[in-house]
Amino acid sequence: MDIIILHRNLRLEDNSALFHGSVNQNYRVIYVYDKHYWSSDGRSPRQFSFLMDCMKEVQSGLRSLNSYIEIFEGSYSELSTYIERNYPQSKIHFNHSTDTSYYRNQISKFKDTFKGSSRLNVYEDFGIQIDQFNRDNWSFDWNRQMRKCRYDQPKPNLSSKSTDLMNFDDFLDLSKSIIQKGFQKGGTKEANAKLNSFFDSRSEGYSKKMSSPHEAEESCSRLSPHIAFGSISIREIYQKLEAHYPQSPFKKDLYSFRKRLYWHCHFIQKLETEPAIEFNSMHSMCDDLRPFDNKEFIDRWINGETGFPFLDACMLYLREKGWINFRMRAMIMSFASYNLWQPWQSTSPLLGELFVDYEPGIHIPQVQMQSGVTGINLPRIYSVNKQSLDQDPEAKWIKQIIPSLNDIDPKKIHSSDLHTAYISPVVDLKQSAKYARDTIWSIRKGDEFKKIARSVYYKHGSRKRS
Ligand SMILES: Cc1cc2nc3c(=O)[nH]c(=O)nc-3n(C[C@H](O)[C@H](O)[C@H](O)COP(=O)(O)OP(=O)(O)OC[C@H]3O[C@@H](n4cnc5c(N)ncnc54)[C@H](O)[C@@H]3O)c2cc1C
Repeated sequence: MDIIILHRNLRLEDNSALFHGSVNQNYRVIYVYDKHYWSSDGRSPRQFSFLMDCMKEVQSGLRSLNSYIEIFEGSYSELSTYIERNYPQSKIHFNHSTDTSYYRNQISKFKDTFKGSSRLNVYEDFGIQIDQFNRDNWSFDWNRQMRKCRYDQPKPNLSSKSTDLMNFDDFLDLSKSIIQKGFQKGGTKEANAKLNSFFDSRSEGYSKKMSSPHEAEESCSRLSPHIAFGSISIREIYQKLEAHYPQSPFKKDLYSFRKRLYWHCHFIQKLETEPAIEFNSMHSMCDDLRPFDNKEFIDRWINGETGFPFLDACMLYLREKGWINFRMRAMIMSFASYNLWQPWQSTSPLLGELFVDYEPGIHIPQVQMQSGVTGINLPRIYSVNKQSLDQDPEAKWIKQIIPSLNDIDPKKIHSSDLHTAYISPVVDLKQSAKYARDTIWSIRKGDEFKKIARSVYYKHGSRKRS
């Protein structure tokens, strides 16, 4: 018997664990539903809803192969006991996932149970070096991974044992109260539709339009939750891109897109290599910078009530849609860390919960980068007022989201100079930015800071720059 465990690679094709686990045609497919995982930092019902869309499609594909998803409710330790008791000879297959500490600790204990037995088969995730980490070879390895042949669908299951685990339909029924509608839809069909429409037309002007929150909604690929939950493999996206590129009239745009596929894995590698960055700043001297939380500041920030209309509009949009473009994510984070001077460890999980595409391996290093705590990236403090003017000059988008500002002159909206017409600003923009700049640069100048920054670069820095 082969046991295949699903976590986040939720697709039938190009799925190493499903493919290899199905070769003997006598297999079970198990999803581990652990409620503690789903209430851990950064996780939220909107992500769970996306995951369920993906699972529904996997389930229907498996049905045609005489197989189905079974749900194990509990932890990975409990799953290992279950497997040992019921299937002591079984082979176990799963794809490696870079995730936060809760999952990592669970999976590490699970692996320990089967250590030395040669029963466990863990397949590497695309583009991430798991065992033989070497930043100098990283780019080469990434390209090699992307060009490998893709795996076919799993083979049909020839065994049809009755199950003592929960079946998927019952799980779906039980999950109804958690599922949230109105966010991006999951599943491989959706992923392919997004990819095709992006190649056909939406990518026109992508490299410029990606900066504006209203244009980006249509002009960015919107593949992020699909990549995060694996409804399509990044290798498939890469290979389809390579095939489409020569005939595309939007080559410059697709070139920018290709770079981002690379960044995806480049960022995840950081959390994979150094899991402690979930809690500690990459540069150790940065952890003492912001010692205190201000609950009122954090609440106003995460609820879109800072008194800065553009920033608030971005947050309200994100709360409603579960997605916003890169530039605005960076600005939102920069505001929390520089202007509000809040520890990134307190704000990061709250922001993560709002993203349907929450991918800890990208999120955490990006949060650190936008908070100036990596030591290897120059601190960039976004001016909320400048972004407001640049991205929405006539304030049309802001007014759509905050209709109470409909009659207000756009200039006043951009300068956040609204008196009683809007919430009063939570901080003074210029003074708070100056305090942040002075404080960060006062520690960056020292020799000790530079020495530590070099070791951070050695571990995490992209060699492309050197
Ligand atoms: C503070 C902060 C938090 C972020 N958190 C996440 C997160 O949890 N999950 C997530 O997928 N992305 C995250 N990003 C990166 C980026 O904003 C999103 O990947 C992007 O907006 C997703 O939209 P898209 O799929 O249309 O992107 P596209 O522009 O179409 O890019 C295609 C793919 O490339 C990857 N990608 C794009 N930009 C980046 C980047 N800067 N770094 C790494 N990979 C990138 C993503 O997988 C994306 O789906 C974060 C950025 C910031 C500043």
